[in-house]
Amino acid sequence: MKHVVGRGPVRSLVLVTVLSLGGTALATSAASALGRGVPDPSEPAVEATSTTSPTPSPTASPTPTASPTPSPTASPTPTASPTPRPTATPKPTPKPKPTPKLVTRSAVLGTTVQGRRIMGYYRGWSHTTQKRTLVVLGQMHGDEKAGLQTADWVRRNVKPTRGSEIWVIPTMNPDGNARGTRTNARGVDLNRNWGTSGYRSSGKGTRTWGGPRAASERETKAVAAFLRRKRPDYIASVHQPFGVVVRTDKDRGWERRLADALGLPIREVGVGTPSGLTSPTLTGWYNRYYGRHGTATTLEYRASVSSAYAGRRAGLAITGAARVRARLG
Ligand SMILES: [Zn+2]
Repeated sequence: MKHVVGRGPVRSLVLVTVLSLGGTALATSAASALGRGVPDPSEPAVEATSTTSPTPSPTASPTPTASPTPSPTASPTPTASPTPRPTATPKPTPKPKPTPKLVTRSAVLGTTVQGRRIMGYYRGWSHTTQKRTLVVLGQMHGDEKAGLQTADWVRRNVKPTRGSEIWVIPTMNPDGNARGTRTNARGVDLNRNWGTSGYRSSGKGTRTWGGPRAASERETKAVAAFLRRKRPDYIASVHQPFGVVVRTDKDRGWERRLADALGLPIREVGVGTPSGLTSPTLTGWYNRYYGRHGTATTLEYRASVSSAYAGRRAGLAITGAARVRARLG
């Protein structure tokens, strides 16, 4: 074909016409046209083309007949398009924007061996993505009472900012609180019972016995499950009597804000865990295993604090340091 194309003006004219039509079938008709126009016996290629050309040449004539065919077919196509249009019309559905509302509720996180409930009190917003979660744990050791007032004050007075939520756990050791003992009813120090590398089962009968196994206590299990589920940004675990904010260096801003507002220094406080191992405390456990989600900090109030300090001042300090407090109410 290439040899034929462009030789004479007639041929090129034919080709131009053919090309303007386009398509494979048209190429066949081009060959037939060329063959019919100038049969060149010296060109075997043309010979071959012309052999095939008789067959497509009748096809060449129906080709123009075929071109009007798509045009009527094209006309029913627009007739089909109006059909889906009315179907699309009823689609628009009104999107009601729910107004965020303050949600308060309580949850039973677990029960003790003596049947007391470990309660959690929630304050947050409905229809809002919660970006920040603060947990205030008022008491772990039953003979340290001041944090109960902090928990109570926060629960009653603090309204979180939109996008923040607060969980208050007044005590995770209600049995110890009822008995006035540091340990729970089984004699276990709940702040030595967490499943970390520094856990020890020795010391039964002492004030700091870690229990028969790591996380053996119902109280530890309940609070650990809760924290795993919530993964709070801030956990304030209140104790007495050392009068310090226990240093972790995980979130220095948070520690500094707490220390300033509580009027306490930031200090390291060890629990006798060898270096390189993680303390079997709540804060040791959370910071070790869930540290990428947030920071758990031990607050040690002084031995004797006023109700005003343990309530309003500490409540404002913790919720302010966590930046979750919108206003009171
Ligand atoms: Zn304590």
